[in-house]
Amino acid sequence: MNKKSRDKSKFPLRMTRQRRVILDELRKVTSHPTADEIYNMVRRRLPGISLGTVYRNLEILSDSGMIQKLESCGSARRYDGNVKMHYHVRCVRCGRVDDLPLSTLPALESAVRKGCGYEILGYRLEFMGVCPKCRKLPKTTKERQDKNGTKR
Ligand SMILES: [Zn+2]
Ligand SMILES: [Zn+2]
Repeated sequence: MNKKSRDKSKFPLRMTRQRRVILDELRKVTSHPTADEIYNMVRRRLPGISLGTVYRNLEILSDSGMIQKLESCGSARRYDGNVKMHYHVRCVRCGRVDDLPLSTLPALESAVRKGCGYEILGYRLEFMGVCPKCRKLPKTTKERQDKNGTKR
């Protein structure tokens, strides 16, 4: 196994077969999969790969800017093969993340740039909601319990 993975030097990034397959699989989907989901996708092509290797390579790929890491407190980290600036919406029930069919808002960015004195490097914009699938489902027992605080 490659022991140099701790080295965070940006470029050139050595494209190992594993990395290429991970990148390839991630770019095929727009579902913003978690590391576990990516592991299952990649395993079909690289049966011997370990979850740890997938995790490590995802970190390396996102450090080098080839993929996007979507972090959010309380839910699993997700990855996006699309590194072009775009906005997301996240389901608070199932954790699903979708791209918003919305162009970016340069006015927002320039207003921030002018106003805060920081050198702005970028930003993330994520909306929260309940996805179409979850909207059709009745609330789970757990959600009802959480609401009125009773236990069964
Ligand atoms: Zn949902
Ligand atoms: Zn996305």
